[in-house]
Amino acid sequence: RVSRAFHPEDTVVSVNGIPIGGKKLAVIAGPCSIETPDQIEGVARDVKAAGATMLRGGAFKPRTSPYSFQGLRDQGLDMLCEAGKKAHLPVVTEIMSADKIDLFLHDHVDIIQIGARNMQNFDLLKAVGKTRKPILLKRGLCATIEEWLMSAEYIMAGGNHNVILCERGIRTFENYTRNTLDLSAILAVKHKSHLPVVVDPSHATGKRWMVEALSKAAIAAGADGVMVEVHNDPEHAWCDGAQSITPKMFAGLMDSLRQIAPVV
Ligand code: PEP
Ligand code: MN
Repeated sequence: RVSRAFHPEDTVVSVNGIPIGGKKLAVIAGPCSIETPDQIEGVARDVKAAGATMLRGGAFKPRTSPYSFQGLRDQGLDMLCEAGKKAHLPVVTEIMSADKIDLFLHDHVDIIQIGARNMQNFDLLKAVGKTRKPILLKRGLCATIEEWLMSAEYIMAGGNHNVILCERGIRTFENYTRNTLDLSAILAVKHKSHLPVVVDPSHATGKRWMVEALSKAAIAAGADGVMVEVHNDPEHAWCDGAQSITPKMFAGLMDSLRQIAPVV
């Protein structure tokens, strides 16, 4: 069960022995989308050197417009897994439909991400609930905390207890930022649930200059880690360049996070 009433202690999800939750911070970093082998391998090398815990990268992209870049799909997944292997970093990537689960398991994806837009795709939640892979469950664009936790319950009801929650901002009337980062949600889900929580300040704000301050704020509010978009050349990124930090900015972020708590 998701509720703390059933499980008073904080859960630590083990990703091949790497703990998510507990005393150390997890830092997941990488580009919005996998573009080329050079791009993903370069970013992997840079974030590893700066001390990242895990590599992210999208191969199956849930884009608002059907005419936007949709991701390199199976090919991108191969590039990501290869880059992770070379840099010795576990990989996190989004799944959009249950028919790709076998591919994700076969390619040794370490954490399967359920994106905000699929948070209430109940058949997909049930399908990943049948696996035993760690699942990063992003909060839906307009989901209440209760709805978000119920989606986690769908995964756990299938027997997969390896769920990590990800707050990524919610839609409000404010449009200065892409979304509104709900810092209080970190406290709320930590209060109601025992599951680990990471925060994605990149999608929450859409602005790279806000990423470091809000990463620190998230940790101060009790988050177990952050997921941030990092791109070698943000100005020319195929997706989400405005919110992507450079590898140099990422190294600075790591330095300031290490002053708050050790990173896994
Ligand atoms: C992502 O992390 O690549 C992503 C698409 O984020 P979200 O589902 O939170 O919009
Ligand atoms: Mn993105």
